[in-house]
Amino acid sequence: MAEKRDYYEVLGVEKSASLDEIKKAYRKLAIKYHPDRNPGDKAAEEKFKEATEAYEVLSDDKKRPLYDQYGFAGVDGAAGGAQYSHAFHDFSDLFGGMGGGFGDIFENIFGGGFSSSQRSSDGHAQGATLRYDLEISFKAAVFGTKAEIRFTHNEVCETCHGTGGAVGSSRKTCPSCQGTGQIRRSSGFFAMQQTCPTCRGTGTIIDKPCSVCHGSGVQEKNKMMTLTIPAGVDNGKRIDIPHQGDAGQNGGPAGDLIVVIHVAEDRFFERSGQDLYCAVPITMAQASLGAEITIPLLDDKRVSVKVPAGTSNGKLLRIKGEGVPYTGTSRRGDLYVKIVVQVPSRLSAQQKALLEQYLALENPTTSPALIPLESLSR
Ligand SMILES: [Zn+2]
Ligand SMILES: [Zn+2]
Repeated sequence: MAEKRDYYEVLGVEKSASLDEIKKAYRKLAIKYHPDRNPGDKAAEEKFKEATEAYEVLSDDKKRPLYDQYGFAGVDGAAGGAQYSHAFHDFSDLFGGMGGGFGDIFENIFGGGFSSSQRSSDGHAQGATLRYDLEISFKAAVFGTKAEIRFTHNEVCETCHGTGGAVGSSRKTCPSCQGTGQIRRSSGFFAMQQTCPTCRGTGTIIDKPCSVCHGSGVQEKNKMMTLTIPAGVDNGKRIDIPHQGDAGQNGGPAGDLIVVIHVAEDRFFERSGQDLYCAVPITMAQASLGAEITIPLLDDKRVSVKVPAGTSNGKLLRIKGEGVPYTGTSRRGDLYVKIVVQVPSRLSAQQKALLEQYLALENPTTSPALIPLESLSR
């Protein structure tokens, strides 16, 4: 190929062009030089390829800085050679298979058709997804909180910008697999294809590896983030933080960080869905005559509860709207207060005399019928 033109020049955009401007410029060129519109025109086809290659690099937020800093050398092996022809192969398939449906083609092109989460022929590999287990208090889960998390992940190596090579190094065909990225291994009667361990499937190795990352292109970094935990999260909830997992290899996308929420138990409150449960003691006389009591809530507010006359032990009283918020709304579940009737074990002489008087008036049967179990409240 003749001398390569600068990618910005190819697309006719400024160095400071936004992704949107780059997309627009490419779309215009791609439509103009599209092989379907210029059958047999070699020059148009070259222009189309040139624009596509420029677009692939400049629209990629990892490759573009490499290109800006190192020129073609920075993206060689990333945008050149194998991947480019791979991309173009896909295009040819599209053109061959469809009756010139431009709309479909460009939806494919602009719909993220370039990104791939798997290792491609030039060794792009998505970084690992990481998991972080975060324990928060019961109260924090109900009302929301900000949580600081510290973790270790791989970031793109600052020294080599992810290329894995020292300054002045170049990529050479891998001697173990002769560039195929695969090796054959016989095991018993079968010969098996395996990813080449020397080049990890990329087909190339770096002659002078970066001294900081030893050629991996990534380095381990400690990271601190402040997470906003919304009100109402439940135990086991997963929060997905895009691109905060391990950096990808050879310009591949970073993995995600998945934060799994573990809610600590509370001494006084329990949760079921959006409803809260707690228990409160009352005396025999309060249960029988009825009472107005106030109880402390999770957030230390107090709420008054009317205990109706004749309340049995174990009865659940509902307080509307004092439960757990439905995340993202102002709606809340309810609070259920379980009434525990306490029987006094020590009586003063006067209390005893009054109770004996009451018992005589009550005159209960000494041979009660059994209570059907299903009528018991739990
Ligand atoms: Zn490095
Ligand atoms: Zn190899």
